[in-house]
Amino acid sequence: SLHGKTALITGSTSGIGLGIATALAEAGANIVLNGFGEIDTAHKQIAQHGVAVIHHGADLRRPDEITDMMAFAAGEFGAVDILVNNAGIQHVAPVDDFPTEKWDDVLAINLSAAFHTIRLALPAMREKHWGRIVNIASVHGLVASSNKSAYVASKHGLVGLTKTVALELAHTGITCNALCPGWVLTPLVAKQIEAKAREQGLSQAQAQALLLAEKQPSGAFVTPAQLGALTLFLASEAAAEVRGVAWTMDGGWTAQ
Ligand code: NAD
Repeated sequence: SLHGKTALITGSTSGIGLGIATALAEAGANIVLNGFGEIDTAHKQIAQHGVAVIHHGADLRRPDEITDMMAFAAGEFGAVDILVNNAGIQHVAPVDDFPTEKWDDVLAINLSAAFHTIRLALPAMREKHWGRIVNIASVHGLVASSNKSAYVASKHGLVGLTKTVALELAHTGITCNALCPGWVLTPLVAKQIEAKAREQGLSQAQAQALLLAEKQPSGAFVTPAQLGALTLFLASEAAAEVRGVAWTMDGGWTAQ
């Protein structure tokens, strides 16, 4: 049980982050939400598990706002025990046509934000001799796809950061690991399905089937609830010696 523990999940107003926040709340953790959009809906979904929940709207492109968010979490709950770096964005374009400001945003949100939350969360975790850091990377932290230079670079970087932090903390009760999901049907992927349907003159259902067929042998989406369950395991005592892994949940994508 995670009663008495506090989990901060970045980008948790939607998709995978909300699924992970829900799993941690079910196990009794107090929750710090972050992200834009449907904040009230996310808040209600978490609160129904009887845990304390707060939201901070830090824009993760801004280190000063990340500092505010971490101070806010510590002020409300004492410390962050479980840190899930989940927020991420995608932009699809060939490298020689990639908008430079998009490159900066992808790297800032998908990679640099995790550096900042980790460095700010660690002092309190060290004091408690316990902590769990889970970085939501991607299969694109392990392999590439065309037209996703910033995303693939950021996710490979996040896996590298994960391994380094895990080694630095190897003699402590703090673990750091990465999850590498394949396709999950969230707003981030819905946009790519819509683009595919538009470009190739397909129905949504056809575009969705094609997207899965290209990369994911199972032909089925991974779900936020499945990723929530895996995060819950990594937060458990049974996972105390899982350190520095890049753990796939990808319907066979990277087995090919
Ligand atoms: P999503 O678009 O549903 O959710 C993204 C979340 O991040 C939202 O809560 C959004 O408000 C927040 N966010 C975006 N920009 C932000 C910013 N500047 N500051 C603060 N919050 C911000 O996406 P998702 O599919 O749930 O993705 C979550 C993570 O999982 C991402 O890191 C993504 O790369 C990764 N991932 C997704 C898939 C997939 O197939 N969906 C696969 C592998 C990895």
